[in-house]
Amino acid sequence: MIQRRGMLIVVSAPSGAGKTSLCEEIRKHISDLAYSVSYTTRSPRPGEVDGRDFFFVEESVFRQMAGRGELAEWAVVHGNLYGTSARFLEQARVRGEDILLDIDTQGARQLRGRYPEGVYVFVLAPSMKELEQRLLERKSDAPQEIALRLGRAREEIAAWREYDYLIVNEDLDEAVHQLQAIIVAERARTTRLTLAIPDLDEGGES
Ligand code: 5GP
Repeated sequence: MIQRRGMLIVVSAPSGAGKTSLCEEIRKHISDLAYSVSYTTRSPRPGEVDGRDFFFVEESVFRQMAGRGELAEWAVVHGNLYGTSARFLEQARVRGEDILLDIDTQGARQLRGRYPEGVYVFVLAPSMKELEQRLLERKSDAPQEIALRLGRAREEIAAWREYDYLIVNEDLDEAVHQLQAIIVAERARTTRLTLAIPDLDEGGES
């Protein structure tokens, strides 16, 4: 009786804000979310799996894909290229699936032009101090890399008003709860729904 088109749920945050954990956790809470695995030219970090966390590709391959229009958006982030498969987004949408994307502010801006009906969520760490601490604790990036990421964090945070929702990730469980509430509410938005009720369709009086 009720049909709904698939929607994009775009999550952006400065690195260290806890967005990766948030995206992992929300997929455990809402099991029917498709996840858009990005293409990147950066090297895998320990534990990262090709095809699960990212598709790790050479820059020449990435640029060919971008040139052929195979990326719905792409951007240079921290000196590496990152992009979203246009085909994956379209196929998931046709199947009526909701798709979670973890992308930066430049990419989110590009997708907003293409998919204005998507849901755009910005995630903040409680403070810059906390952000720095989390990056240090992660131990996966070199010191210059951390400095670069902190500098970019300030630029990214300035874009928060371009998003529909803001989540301050002080406590992961609470942040997951908030994101879940946003997705549940957005799924019920009347503009996304098609209702087929025979009596109403026949124009019966109320
Ligand atoms: P990391 O290398 O730390 O996993 O990600 C660095 C940044 O790249 C993060 O802000 C992440 O959201 C962003 N990112 C990951 N995939 C994509 C993508 O497909 N497109 C864009 N524009 N940014 C991405």
